[in-house]
Amino acid sequence: METTIISGTQLAKQIRKEVRAEVSVLAESGKRLPKLAVVLVGEDPASQVYVRNKNNACEKVGLLHETIVLPGDTSMDQLLDVIDGLNKDEAVDGILVQMPLPNGLNEEIVKQAVRVDKDVDGFHVENAGKVSLGKFDEAFVPCTPMGVVELLKRNGIEIAGKHVVIVGRSNLVGKPEALLMLSEDATVTVCHSKTPDLSAMTKQADILISAVGRKHTIHADMIKEGCVVVDVGINRTENGICGDVDFDECLGKASAMTPVPGGVGPMTIAMLLKNTMKAYRLHEKL
Ligand code: NDP
Repeated sequence: METTIISGTQLAKQIRKEVRAEVSVLAESGKRLPKLAVVLVGEDPASQVYVRNKNNACEKVGLLHETIVLPGDTSMDQLLDVIDGLNKDEAVDGILVQMPLPNGLNEEIVKQAVRVDKDVDGFHVENAGKVSLGKFDEAFVPCTPMGVVELLKRNGIEIAGKHVVIVGRSNLVGKPEALLMLSEDATVTVCHSKTPDLSAMTKQADILISAVGRKHTIHADMIKEGCVVVDVGINRTENGICGDVDFDECLGKASAMTPVPGGVGPMTIAMLLKNTMKAYRLHEKL
């Protein structure tokens, strides 16, 4: 079977074009422009790359952006003060605190400190609650799971009625992905590290989504012929970045697959732009 490679890079480019068109209309009409504020604490190299990529994406579409870089020994009080300032700043529509935070800083408290209507990562309990109730229009949905749905839909892959098997149950990816897929009328199975026979589950998938963070978690003998495979995993190896799926092995057996890099990653950033626009529309009552 020929495997279609689903390019997140290409679709993200298309979405940036759409966002850029929206921003241009605002600029031409002299309106305030949407703004994303990113807070980076410490010097984690991977986080620095992610923040740079997010800023570049804002730049490309004409969104205003500001990065606040804080030293690794920043205290909780200092960080919460910065977030409070951004919460109150009417020029800021979206706030993103880059995770992971250095040891000693409580990520849960930080996530809940971001104003719910500026929470473009969708980490706030109120947003998570709305997502679990299916109130997607009112909520900020986490960018990665939303990016996966967009990637499938805009590549003409039907979700309704399909059996979607998700490997991973994190609050960031697996759980919200399951809720999104349910709302798309899929039948959903969620697997995790305590699933006794992972392969028995993954072989049932019409659409398999792996969000584990371990190289070669998914092999060709774990998928059924014609399955669509979405690889969310990002794993750093001496040969660069790879996903959770043994890509070469699954080629020819899957009907479609996302590559790593160039699959879900660029879509995550594209969805961040969309969430920032959503926050802007909310603030401007558009
Ligand atoms: P977490 O570590 O929070 O969650 C990993 C999940 O995988 C857990 O639910 C865990 O189970 C499960 N798991 C671990 N080992 C196994 C196993 N052997 N078999 C089955 N399930 C297993 O990670 P995240 O959800 O935050 O991220 C997952 C991956 O996605 C990472 O590689 C991350 O870098 C990547 N990622 C990529 C993004 C992108 O834009 N492309 C964005 C966000 C994340 P349990 O709950 O039992 O521990």
